[in-house]
Amino acid sequence: MRWQQARIAGIVPRSKTVSSFFFDLPEPFDFLAGQHVVVRLTAPDGYRAQRSYSIASAPGARSRIELAIERLDDGEVSPFFHDVAEVGDEIEIGGPIGGHFVWTVADGGPVLLIAGGAGVVPLLSMLRHRAGEGATTPMALLFSARTKADVLFREELSGLAARDDGFELQLTLTREASPPPGAFSRRIDPDMILEVTRRLPGPPRRAYICGSNAFCERAADGALAAGIDAGDIRTERYGA
Ligand SMILES: Cc1cc2nc3c(=O)[nH]c(=O)nc-3n(C[C@H](O)[C@H](O)[C@H](O)COP(=O)(O)OP(=O)(O)OC[C@H]3O[C@@H](n4cnc5c(N)ncnc54)[C@H](O)[C@@H]3O)c2cc1C
Repeated sequence: MRWQQARIAGIVPRSKTVSSFFFDLPEPFDFLAGQHVVVRLTAPDGYRAQRSYSIASAPGARSRIELAIERLDDGEVSPFFHDVAEVGDEIEIGGPIGGHFVWTVADGGPVLLIAGGAGVVPLLSMLRHRAGEGATTPMALLFSARTKADVLFREELSGLAARDDGFELQLTLTREASPPPGAFSRRIDPDMILEVTRRLPGPPRRAYICGSNAFCERAADGALAAGIDAGDIRTERYGA
């Protein structure tokens, strides 16, 4: 893997628990929407920890990439970013990595995207790529979050949906007292996935599912029940 010392160029809060970290890359690289990088931290005593983070930026960013990192209170690496890391810090980054969970405009569609929480990050890269290329590939994103305030990139996603160019956004909020009109207010289930799939102009050529292990299992079962072939379902599991 190619490693380099990237510099934190900016930190932008996205929700109570997630912030975007922008990294300047001294050795710019090409990447595909959906790929991730590995971040490696080394303590003064030589102890090392490394974790994977999806690239949120659209391909083409090359010299500055955005990672959106969720703070897990009992985690090792993610609290470091939220509590310790500052603009100007140098962090080791390896990659880009991943050839399975990727989408290019040439891959076409229709495409079903299903995200749980921070799992929206690689799917956002795909949507940014689609918009940046002026593509009209039919895409539908079913995004599950706890509350309205936890819907990462909500304004940007709503803005993309408002372009009316073949992208549909469907939120489901599992713990929101007053969900916005049109949002579901339950955990994802096969009926919900079927309903969103039917909004596409034809059967999805591919489904991309990203979130926790449990979320991915549930969503993949729902996608199968909606008639999507197992071979067309790609999942990215963030762990626990
Ligand atoms: C391809 C890929 C892309 C990813 N992209 C993103 C992304 O874009 N954004 C993002 O926020 N995350 C992403 N992740 C998840 C990320 O890699 C980390 O797993 C996450 O940030 C947690 O790391 P941590 O060091 O903070 O927590 P960890 O220390 O790894 O702990 C994670 C959880 O496991 C539990 N745990 C830790 N050790 C043990 C143990 N010994 N026994 C039982 N439980 C334990 C902890 O309680 C904690 O809740 C991605 C993961 C993958 C594989």
